[in-house]
Amino acid sequence: MKQQDFNKSKIYKNVTTTVKLKGKEVKVHGLSIGTVAVKRNFKTKNGYGSLSKINILLGKEYTEYLPIWVWVIEHPEGIIVIDTGENAESLDIDKYLAKESFFAKYQFKHACKVKIQPQEELNHQLNKINIKVDDVKLVILTHLHSDHIDGLKFFPKQEILMGKYEFLHPDNCFTTTLPSWFKPNTVDFIQNKIEVFNQAYPISQNEDLLLIPTPGHTLGHNSVLLKTDDFDIIFAGDSSYHQDQVLKGEMAGANTDYNKTKQTYRNFLDYATLRRTIYLPTHDENAGQRLASKSFLV
Ligand SMILES: [Zn+2]
Repeated sequence: MKQQDFNKSKIYKNVTTTVKLKGKEVKVHGLSIGTVAVKRNFKTKNGYGSLSKINILLGKEYTEYLPIWVWVIEHPEGIIVIDTGENAESLDIDKYLAKESFFAKYQFKHACKVKIQPQEELNHQLNKINIKVDDVKLVILTHLHSDHIDGLKFFPKQEILMGKYEFLHPDNCFTTTLPSWFKPNTVDFIQNKIEVFNQAYPISQNEDLLLIPTPGHTLGHNSVLLKTDDFDIIFAGDSSYHQDQVLKGEMAGANTDYNKTKQTYRNFLDYATLRRTIYLPTHDENAGQRLASKSFLV
């Protein structure tokens, strides 16, 4: 097993905040499930076209360890988990990705370094907020990258919901690591369901929770929008690595389609001018803090 680098470790504390849904107080949690350091050229685009991808593999510098946030909503219709974080088995890359291609393993080893201990996995973190895995009603996936799906192993009994396009056309998904029982409910978007993004899939019955298309990082990448009584929250997956990238129009190197990402950034900004919006990407060091202090995108 690769030696974990504990010295450069950063601790991201779990956060909890309370929002109102139709007058009812509802808790929203950010749980930190391991950390990941990515090549600087992975987080921030360096070079044009395919050169930016080659530069990810050739670059030597890594970012500091970034959080892997998993979001939990104690929704009146049931407890909802958004993405599932990492797991400790994944640290032994040759074993974990044994059935993947040589190139897949090479790419993974040269793009990021993950750090997680078994007691940091999602089941333990849920216990810390007094939620048992069995209490979870629904798991929503933004996309199929390993640091978002490696905690799926805890949810064989739950409904898992994700966008149909991402399921049918995943980018860089280690399909051999998916649980054998993995059969998500894959959904199509409905037109005219939301301003700016236009298409959406209403997840909750009262349509305060929606899956929205935010392509670019992967072609089928989605985010989750929670409409509270006072403001909205976008759980943005890997739409960007941090909030500043959206504000400055800075591209991540890890992108399948830069033009789609540009449009997705515009949509976030346009939406945030209509409704106050907290923007929460999975690997943003400050996302937990923004959720706790209710800081808005614009
Ligand atoms: Zn990703």
